[in-house]
Amino acid sequence: MAEPLFPLLSLSRLRMGTDGAGITTLAAGAGCPLRCRWCINARLLCEASAEELTAEELLARLRIDDLYFRATGGGVTFGGGESLLHAVFIRRFRQLCPAEWRISAETSLAVPREMAETALEAVDLFIVDCKDMDREIYRGYTGGDGARMEENLRFLLEKAGPERVLVRVPRIPGYNTPDDQKRSAEKLRAMGVERLDLFDYVIRE
Ligand code: SF4
Repeated sequence: MAEPLFPLLSLSRLRMGTDGAGITTLAAGAGCPLRCRWCINARLLCEASAEELTAEELLARLRIDDLYFRATGGGVTFGGGESLLHAVFIRRFRQLCPAEWRISAETSLAVPREMAETALEAVDLFIVDCKDMDREIYRGYTGGDGARMEENLRFLLEKAGPERVLVRVPRIPGYNTPDDQKRSAEKLRAMGVERLDLFDYVIRE
C-alpha cells in the first residue's frame, strides 16, 4: 500500500498551554470539509499550497524537540484545516514516533465516521471545536451539518472516554450569543463531556 502523505502547511514549535499537555509542535495540514465564515486562513482549505511529506519525513523534522516532548509530557498536535482527514497518516506517524510522545488532534469532527475510527488508537487527546450545538447556528456559520459532528462526538466519548476528549465551545461574533454558548455547554455536559473550554473567537478582518 502506498505511504500516506501529509499536506503540510506549517509547523509551529515550542507551544505551551494551547493544545494539550507539555511542550508541543503544531503540524497544520491542508483541507477541510467546512467553510466557516471566520476561518483564519483560506490556505487551510486548499491542498494545492501544501508540501506533501511521508510520516518518516515529518518525524525527521520534529525530532529536534524530542527532549522537550519527553521532559514535559508533550508531543505533536495535528491541526489544520481538518486533521482527521489525515487519520491514516496520523496512525502511521504514531507507529513510527517515540512512544513517549503524546499525539493530539484538533478537529471539527465534520468527517466520515471511519476517520474517527482510524484515529481512535493513534490519538491521545481529541481537541474538538464544536462551533455551536444548535443545528441552525452551526449550519449558518459552517455550511455543514451539526448532526455528523454530534454523532462522531458521541462515538469518541464512548470509545475513547471523556478524559481523551476536550471540547472547545466558542462565542462566534455575529453567529451566537453568550446564552447560546452556555446552552451548548449544557448540552455537551449532558452528553457526557467532562473537559470543556469556553472561549471567544477573536476576529481580525
Ligand atoms: S473548521 Fe477550521 S479550518 Fe475548517 S473552515 Fe472552519 S475554521 Fe476553517
